[in-house]
Amino acid sequence: MAYKISDDCIACGACAAGCPVDAITEGDGKYVIDEDACIECGACADACPVGAPTND
Ligand code: SF4
Ligand code: SF4
Repeated sequence: MAYKISDDCIACGACAAGCPVDAITEGDGKYVIDEDACIECGACADACPVGAPTND
């Protein structure tokens, strides 16, 4: 299952900078993950200061 970014996102951009496949872009008030591009590496979750990316 691809990672998703929750509403906890504070739009800091740290996850997008570290995504190896450029699957993360800035959306409306938060960042969003292209589920078709995500390879589930977990780098965004590691980089996020508020724990917004999850793959529950
Ligand atoms: Fe990108 Fe990896 Fe996060 Fe998927 S899990 S959005 S590939 S950093
Ligand atoms: Fe949002 Fe976390 Fe990504 Fe920052 S690192 S843009 S808070 S999901």
